[in-house]
Amino acid sequence: MSREFTSVGVIGLGTMGAGIVEVFARNGIDVVAVEIDDDALERGRGHLDSSTGRAVSRGKISQASADALLARVTFTTDLQQLAGCQLVVEAVPESLELKKATFAKVDAVVRPDAVLATNTSSLPVTEIAVATANPKRVVGMHFFNPAPVLQFVEVIKTVITADDVFEDVKALAEKLDKKPVIVADKAGFIANALLFGYLNHAVSMYETKYASREDIDAAMRLGCGYPMGPLALMDLIGLDTAYEILDTMYKQGRDRLHAPTPVIKQMVSAGLKGRKTGRGFYTYAGPGSSQVVPDAQTPAHVDASTEGLREVRTVGVVGSGTMATGIAEVFAQAGFPVTCVARSQERVDGVRAGVERSQVTAIERGRTTREDADGLMARLTGSTDRAALADVDLVIEAVAEDLAVKQELFTDLDAICKPGAILATTTSSLPVIDCATVTARPQDVVGMHFFNPAQVMQLVEVVHTVSTDEQVVATAQALCDRVGKYAVTCGDRSGFIVNALLFPYLNDAVKMLSSNYATADDIDTAMKTGCGLPMGPLELLDVVGLDVSLAIQRELYLEFREPGFAPAPLLEHLVTAGYLGRKTGRGFRTHT
Ligand code: NAD
Repeated sequence: MSREFTSVGVIGLGTMGAGIVEVFARNGIDVVAVEIDDDALERGRGHLDSSTGRAVSRGKISQASADALLARVTFTTDLQQLAGCQLVVEAVPESLELKKATFAKVDAVVRPDAVLATNTSSLPVTEIAVATANPKRVVGMHFFNPAPVLQFVEVIKTVITADDVFEDVKALAEKLDKKPVIVADKAGFIANALLFGYLNHAVSMYETKYASREDIDAAMRLGCGYPMGPLALMDLIGLDTAYEILDTMYKQGRDRLHAPTPVIKQMVSAGLKGRKTGRGFYTYAGPGSSQVVPDAQTPAHVDASTEGLREVRTVGVVGSGTMATGIAEVFAQAGFPVTCVARSQERVDGVRAGVERSQVTAIERGRTTREDADGLMARLTGSTDRAALADVDLVIEAVAEDLAVKQELFTDLDAICKPGAILATTTSSLPVIDCATVTARPQDVVGMHFFNPAQVMQLVEVVHTVSTDEQVVATAQALCDRVGKYAVTCGDRSGFIVNALLFPYLNDAVKMLSSNYATADDIDTAMKTGCGLPMGPLELLDVVGLDVSLAIQRELYLEFREPGFAPAPLLEHLVTAGYLGRKTGRGFRTHT
């Protein structure tokens, strides 16, 4: 007979605990909510009040259910009050000593058949369990932040947890409308083990001033469709908690990529712990607020004046593939006369036909009219002769991702284009400087990395080399704005912002799969429902193509020489076998 959980305890009412109380109480379960002192108890009650208040004002629950929910919660600073609970979930700060001491105390208070669960994100559940007299009843129940919203729960089963204990906790999680996955006791479990390498990497980009905090966050939101950027997420998680998670993962796995970036520790020491203290990577309206307010790092308003910028009236696009076609459409749509140059008349016609098809779809969806589409098409001219680019103010190339091909093109552009023209490459993995140095005007060469499909994706990474003129960068940024894109700016390093943050995480997911710690479905579920990502990593790899992903990962490994960036052997093997993902019908999954 499985256990009935009608009364549960929650210890610690901070970022996570208050949310966990809400989850139980919303589902008709009585909750004993314990804090360390009266002040903390009031703070915890405040978290719960404002969260349920928000749910009422957004129409998610009625005032009556909010009142009933709050009436189910007993607030106390006395652990003895947990005596009648069938389950106690601990959510005190991420410290092994504190958790062990808390469990030892609770163990002596509750009934012998009660279950004890820790919400730890990374600490060894086994060590916490053995601090009690009955480690068989100790389990991990790892909720995600914010607990009332995110659907995922990791149930951590140690080598001593009794089968009925984790089965009952799993059944309870299902009753709470969550998607539980049972995993073994390994630092970071599934979601954090994959998430924190990425977060740490983003922090190091910020620390080294590779890109601004706003640009790093915007890149991941707009380039990958993530619900929030990594630095904003660190602030939500809490930098102290994040530090402990990274530190524990590093000590267990000795993966250098998990060694906490030094600035995290410095910020924690300075009390800049994120939203909960009102300041972290961003500044908030007050402690606990989610509203970002301007501070010294907030970029000045984009200057609408064009003073000092290079004038761009006409645009040339070289190439005839998906990206070239999309980019030509973006500029023509924004009113620029665009000269498309491709290797044959057939290809030139192909670009026009591609833009026309896309415009027909836009007309069907009511996004444009036939008249506007005709106007756009009239602005597109094609040529097979690069000399047609002699007078354009900006050339964007999107030819094959092959350095020799690009260098030959840039040598030619240097000879053909008028002085002062901006020469841009949309390469996603080659060094922009290698395109710049074959010209006599490296100061005019810049990266403009569009995302596919260019008509739809808002993000452009504007990449400056060590030689790029500042005004060229500023002109590229302003142009992105004019064509309705969001420009982020970064240096000329492999992967720029998005790919450098995305692919090592995808590669880590492959390594986790091949270690048999979790199944492909569990990994994808964890990242989608636990972190709110639009796709799971293995799903995404199948969409991007395993060959393309492997090539990017190899480039990153070559450039950064980071052992942790070495492509996962399983990824290599799948590519060797020709299992490239959706395009071949088989990758991590079989596609019909
Ligand atoms: P937090 O600092 O926001 O809250 C911790 C709370 O515990 C505070 O309110 C504190 O007063 C209270 N507390 C401290 N000592 C106590 C004691 N002896 N008895 C009772 N209460 C005590 O931390 P948090 O972010 O909520 O993290 C709590 C746990 O949840 C950690 O193990 C963390 O790893 C885990 N977790 C955090 C997140 C996240 O995104 N923040 C997500 C999942 C799991």
